[in-house]
Amino acid sequence: MKNKEIISVGVIGAGGFIGQDHLKRLSTVIEGVNIEMLYDLNTEKCTELANKYHARVAASAEALIADPQVDAVLITAWDGVHADLTLKCIAARKPVFCEKPLATTIEDCKKIVEAEKEAGETLVQVGFMRRFDADYRKMKEILKSGELGAPIMAHCISRTPRIAPGFTDPMQITNIVIHEIDLFRWMLDEELVRGQVHFSRSTGFAESGLHDPQLVLMWSESGVLIDVESSANSYYGYEIGCEIVCEKGTLRLPVPAAPIVRSRLQCAVPVMDDWSERFPDAYKNELQHWIDYLRGRTNQPGPGTQDGYAACVTADALIRSQQTGNTESIVL
Ligand code: NAP
Repeated sequence: MKNKEIISVGVIGAGGFIGQDHLKRLSTVIEGVNIEMLYDLNTEKCTELANKYHARVAASAEALIADPQVDAVLITAWDGVHADLTLKCIAARKPVFCEKPLATTIEDCKKIVEAEKEAGETLVQVGFMRRFDADYRKMKEILKSGELGAPIMAHCISRTPRIAPGFTDPMQITNIVIHEIDLFRWMLDEELVRGQVHFSRSTGFAESGLHDPQLVLMWSESGVLIDVESSANSYYGYEIGCEIVCEKGTLRLPVPAAPIVRSRLQCAVPVMDDWSERFPDAYKNELQHWIDYLRGRTNQPGPGTQDGYAACVTADALIRSQQTGNTESIVL
């Protein structure tokens, strides 16, 4: 596989929101890739996409993984099947890009880490795309330079305008805050060691029983305190914010540039509706990195199984805190 010029990819969960988004990307801006095969539970959608991208339709996820023409697998199906499909890819020695989260339980993450270790090669990249965002990269570079002194605190917001029915308190962590969990492990170059979740009153837009928004606190090994306001029903739009407070100054994630629109009696900047508009370059960069690693163009693998495992253990501690109200230890 290494040094192959064109990597033939099979996509499982191709018909979903991010599946279609990645397909568009693979067919337009990613170099060195061929969309070979698709699978989705929604057969009609899958066939429509296969026709559009001149790919074959697989009879099952297992058939796609086993197909000799498929060099590597992209998993964009829902969270609950990531672990099983990733394990099947490792068993078949097929490199796999798994959307976050790698798995929803620590046990499943451990199985994946072990299976990859046994395979003796790096086979998994996890979809922690914020690491590939140019602004977060610049923030990390400045932090590392030491010019602002040591980081002390970080204030983050993660707001999504609406969410599909069935969204639960644990999903607020495993589906949304998981990005900040990975981001700060990477940004600070250290593990997170404690976490706590606080509830406010819930917005009337939240499904009954869901605490939304939630305030998540996490402490790193060196004592950096990170707070994240996570909202799955912000109503007004999609917004990601991050400010890192250091000894000698702060670093703030810029708001993406947008024109200021003057129309009758108003002067406004539009707010985005979802993640796909906010981070297009990060998604492109993470997929290009995956393909380039498989083509042998870089020796540096992307975020992998150990990152997926650490994020899962951290998420687990936060979910415990949702139930106990206590600060919970994160023990890797
Ligand atoms: P979605 O719109 O519900 O799409 C999931 C798709 O996968 C659906 O078409 C679904 O079919 C299909 N599917 C479910 N189980 C499957 C299986 N076992 N085999 C094959 N196909 C299956 O969800 P989404 O918003 O695209 O999210 C998909 C994944 O990407 C999630 O894990 C999510 O956490 C992740 N994600 C990551 C980011 C990021 O920023 N990195 C952003 C968005 C989403 P049915 O509809 O028929 O069930």
